[in-house]
Amino acid sequence: MDPSGKIERPGKIVCVGRNYADHAAEMGNVLPERPLLFLKPPSSVIGDGENIVLPPDSEQVEHEGEIGVVIGRRLCRISPAEAPDGIAGITCVNDVTARDLQRTDSQWTRAKGFDTFCPVGPRVVPLTGEDDWRALEVICRVNGEVRQHGRAKEMHFGIPEIVAYISRIMTLEPGDLIATGTPAGVGPLRAGDMVEVEIPQVGILSNPVVAGENI
Ligand code: ZN
Repeated sequence: MDPSGKIERPGKIVCVGRNYADHAAEMGNVLPERPLLFLKPPSSVIGDGENIVLPPDSEQVEHEGEIGVVIGRRLCRISPAEAPDGIAGITCVNDVTARDLQRTDSQWTRAKGFDTFCPVGPRVVPLTGEDDWRALEVICRVNGEVRQHGRAKEMHFGIPEIVAYISRIMTLEPGDLIATGTPAGVGPLRAGDMVEVEIPQVGILSNPVVAGENI
């Protein structure tokens, strides 16, 4: 994070699947026993106002509004109690997903990895010692209509637990981004839509949706 709170391209993006009970249920899944992790490539990142491009490979691209955690310092095998000191701040993330490809592939690299499938922003806001991560909430709107509304206190695995868990697998570096899972209400994006992810303390991440070239 630079001092203005502007987003830099993360070295890696680690995502948590099925972290809200209501979303796991809407997808017909049970809650996992431990955090279910996957990666999105840094090349999928776009900023506020940039276009989400619908790839011709998918007929069902969906929004997933999420609370993003930006890492502030190198973290290796830390405890949950140590996690808050390692977090630079919070930002809005849209974990755009080709749902049809997620269903047909046994892992999710293709469904989650297309260019423009990771809008992030509009800025990174540090949480002060007095802020409690449990008070964070995330709202996702399509064309002004609320589609998703989740609260961090509803997460199956909380933010400190997620950061600590990931740090036991891979060293987290400054600027790395964690997408902490999406609440219920995921749904399709179509060309011409405007999708917004809002975290009240952070602001609104807005991205138009456009059709990709069929080549
Ligand atoms: Zn997600």
